[in-house]
Amino acid sequence: MRKKIQQILQEKDLENQVVIAGWIRTRRDTGSFSFLEVNDGSSLGNIQIVADQQLANYKDEIVRLTAGCAVEVTGVVKESPAKGQEIEVQATEVNIVGWADPETYPLQKKRHSFEYLREISHLRPRTNALGAVARVRSRLTMAIHSFFQERGFIQVHTPIITTSDCEGAGEMFQIKGGKEGEFFGRPAGLTVSGQLQAEVYALSLGDVYTFGPTFRAENSNTSRHLAEFWMIEPEMAFCDLACNMAVARDMLKYCLNDVLTNCQEDLALFDNFIEKGLIRKLKNVVEQDFKHITYTEAVDLLLKADKAFEFPVSWGIDLQSEHERYLTEELFKKPLIVTDYPAAIKPFYMRVSEDGKTVAAMDILVPGIGEIVGGSQREERYDVLMKRMEAAQINLDEYQWYLDLRKYGTVPHSGFGLGFERLVQFVTGMTNIREVIPFPRTPGFAPC
Ligand code: ATP
Ligand code: MN
Repeated sequence: MRKKIQQILQEKDLENQVVIAGWIRTRRDTGSFSFLEVNDGSSLGNIQIVADQQLANYKDEIVRLTAGCAVEVTGVVKESPAKGQEIEVQATEVNIVGWADPETYPLQKKRHSFEYLREISHLRPRTNALGAVARVRSRLTMAIHSFFQERGFIQVHTPIITTSDCEGAGEMFQIKGGKEGEFFGRPAGLTVSGQLQAEVYALSLGDVYTFGPTFRAENSNTSRHLAEFWMIEPEMAFCDLACNMAVARDMLKYCLNDVLTNCQEDLALFDNFIEKGLIRKLKNVVEQDFKHITYTEAVDLLLKADKAFEFPVSWGIDLQSEHERYLTEELFKKPLIVTDYPAAIKPFYMRVSEDGKTVAAMDILVPGIGEIVGGSQREERYDVLMKRMEAAQINLDEYQWYLDLRKYGTVPHSGFGLGFERLVQFVTGMTNIREVIPFPRTPGFAPC
């Protein structure tokens, strides 16, 4: 029976017959047989195949196998006499499914730089690190869904094509649609956030979330921004800022706990080769409380900091990445929730506080990344919202539906956006966001 290598390594079912399908990592010949290291993507660990010279195709084929060749091996699980692995598979048949020319195969045994691997994004998932990222990413996707589904949240598929530029930051990719242009009879673009539509469903169904692709024409080339990324956006009715913060914190802890339990082998690789102390860092986040300060307190701390920042600090500025990272990495050395930002630097939909100057916003900052979550309590008061929209010069006709939600049965509600790739970065320790999405899109870069 065909089995995944991960399962075979786990079961260690001696004398069991198995069929394995995967790609050769290395071949080593001894006098009378060859060792083949095979990987099928199911785990970081390879399985060692012992191919005896008695096999019919030994001389013609097996000794010509090189890295990247695809094989299907039938064999019996045996205890391995050598160091390095507990079991191996004594082959009874080695079927070569696809050859890989060793002269041109781009993945040689040596370690390649991540920059080089980006140029061969069609082959890089065959490396240990990128394969591990893909498995952790998949596991985190499931953890996100489990977290929300276990709590009764309903998943909503918000549109990818949109006519509302939620963040208003001019980062929306415009779409034409056909020769005629304006397919929808009005300007449209790719979504920068599903929040406004998520609010619609929250105000009918209570607790909802979206998890989908998001597009932003980010012109800066940073290690934390992509033009296409995935975002998780829960939206909760009858939920204030404190409730919002608790959901975000619990979600992060839940996800980290899940991968700490279920991705041990891959995390150990990242801990060894990518970020020393990674597993300890993740465990700390699960075990510790998050620090909580207001924006005003953050500004005071930054002004007192014994550190020269590139961007000068004063009350009213938008916190830059260097400020965020100083607070979470150097000062508190743990996840940090910053709340109550100046209204002037935040979008129209955030709820204005009693003081009239700040809004009920919250960002979660983590060491190594900076902002990972951005959220707020939404403005639920019709008049206040309308004034804010007018001040932001938003065309009220186009947002009548959004205002309607405040006219008919309005309730306090909150939500946030978690950048999925930033979470994968945090969990894997990968320094560049381009390594945690299968096919990164950044300015001037979209190869396959
Ligand atoms: P930043 O200041 O880092 O650009 P933002 O304030 O633009 O973030 P939000 O609009 O609040 O971010 O979006 C919610 C979340 O989406 C962020 O907390 C972050 O995790 C993620 N995010 C935002 N922009 C990007 C991007 N270009 N690539 C990847 N993730 C992103
Ligand atoms: Mn941004």
